[in-house]
Amino acid sequence: MLIDLRSDTVTRPTPGMKEAMFSAPVGDDVFGEDPTVNTLEEKIAKLFGMEAAIFCPSGTMTNQIAIRLHTRPQTEVICHKYSHIYLYEGGGIMANSLASVKLLDGDLGKITASQIEESINPDDVHAPETTLVSLENTMNKGGGSIYTLEEIKPIYQLCKEKGLKLHLDGARLFNALVETGEKPAAWGAHFDTISICLSKGLGCPIGSVLLGTKADIKRARKVRKVFGGGMRQAGFLAAAGIYALDHQVERLKEDHARARELGKMLAKLPVVSEILPVSTNIVIARLEGISPEEFMKRLAEKNIKSVKFGKDLVRFVTHHDFKDEHLYEFGRRISSLF
Ligand SMILES: *Cc1c(COP(=O)(O)O)cnc(C)c1O
Repeated sequence: MLIDLRSDTVTRPTPGMKEAMFSAPVGDDVFGEDPTVNTLEEKIAKLFGMEAAIFCPSGTMTNQIAIRLHTRPQTEVICHKYSHIYLYEGGGIMANSLASVKLLDGDLGKITASQIEESINPDDVHAPETTLVSLENTMNKGGGSIYTLEEIKPIYQLCKEKGLKLHLDGARLFNALVETGEKPAAWGAHFDTISICLSKGLGCPIGSVLLGTKADIKRARKVRKVFGGGMRQAGFLAAAGIYALDHQVERLKEDHARARELGKMLAKLPVVSEILPVSTNIVIARLEGISPEEFMKRLAEKNIKSVKFGKDLVRFVTHHDFKDEHLYEFGRRISSLF
């Protein structure tokens, strides 16, 4: 049995999801005529109390569209140095928006209002104008760490005072919300745009949505087109998103419980010096006396897949297709490995 813990993107659609996909009414979404895409966009916008939403092929696209909306060439984005938008989107801030980026430090991938305030550029001929702050929740490189709404409020206030836009890379926002019990609409009220992935813990084969004002989402449709993301009978894919929102959100808690257990199993290994705090479905192990490559190779020999996440770090992500039997097997296989 393969135990694939590389990412929560490796899941396959369930029978119920497939049925929803195959029976979806569809049309040409570039003409705005796909009823299932329209339903998904309206449903998720309403859930977050935001005006509108746009369905896109990937979270990279939704983030990059948001950055395009909130910057101009020669302006600057503020984010954590480990942000997905900076580290894992191919230099898109520069390539797609001709914008600069200021990278901040912060525990477990999180930044604070006072750090942001210090990093806003002065109104000076030398400096790129700061226009956007981007946060990530949960924070992938922070080990799936969570921002609470209380931590967001001062950042929201600051952005409002300074006239900055605030974007949330909420690829795994639902993982945070099922843990904290906070309401989606409370989050919607604090951001100009929010990006959410359907293809991670929610278990869809494809898709992300960008939420925002009607005016921003109207502009986003043009940007999506030029990025090559205008899709036709995309309702087959949007149907998976609707199904996931109805059936696979609360389930994320199971992934978190298994991640905590997995962290405890890893912590017992003599070659693991530390497990970053496990808040959601991501477990990051710090190694000692062994390289990530060698560690991962030994796991791979036992049919366990993980990813390198730094010079002495390895990441494991629990997901819809990682059940109790896989957790048990994981423990059994690693116990005699090192
Ligand atoms: C996965 C992910 C994205 C989007 O990735 P795609 O693979 O383009 O869908 C964005 N931000 C974070 C934090 C992610 O984990």
